[in-house]
Amino acid sequence: MDEIMKLEIIKNFKSRNINVAFFETLEDVKNRIIEMVPADCSVGIGNSKTLKELDISGILRTRGTNVFDKTLAENQEETIRMKKKSLLADWYITGTNAISKEGHIVNIDHSGNRVAAMIYGPDNVIVVVGKNKICDTLDDAVQRVRNVSAPMNARRAGYNPPCLKAGKCVDCKTDERVCFNLVIIEGQFAKDRMKLFIINEELGF
Ligand code: SF4
Repeated sequence: MDEIMKLEIIKNFKSRNINVAFFETLEDVKNRIIEMVPADCSVGIGNSKTLKELDISGILRTRGTNVFDKTLAENQEETIRMKKKSLLADWYITGTNAISKEGHIVNIDHSGNRVAAMIYGPDNVIVVVGKNKICDTLDDAVQRVRNVSAPMNARRAGYNPPCLKAGKCVDCKTDERVCFNLVIIEGQFAKDRMKLFIINEELGF
């Protein structure tokens, strides 16, 4: 990532009250999260391939932090409880499906718990994203989440919507649909509540 692009991204997100930091590696982000998040707090975790690679839930739990990560639930009842508890955690840590250089954060979401916590509830939100998800414009970011993120997430989660075969979104209305929510975060009311960590690696989808 060149310095001019970084400055453009920082400026555009800052104008929307979102704080941006750049990191070289996932390991650097892990260390920063451990530094920032107090041990004696609650943390909600958004389902994310990138965060899974970090094992951030395991690391925070080892410190005694109260972690709500639905992917660690042992049954459906616990999954629902974790998702609801995440909405009121002190911190929320999540990946995202795309950002635009203009300053948007764009996500597709199945049931909506992840985007709900990003928008309101936790006082601090950390969004982790690899450089492969940086798009030039909002339109490009929306195209990305529909045509790249949705099918790949569907495959990961064991769903079979038509975009898997078509290789692009066909605006389905099937029971296999994985993108009931398409959410564009335009900015934050609470300044610096949201911290965007951009990593100089290709991560997730
Ligand atoms: S609407 Fe259907 S086809 Fe389009 S991305 Fe979502 S799941 Fe895939």
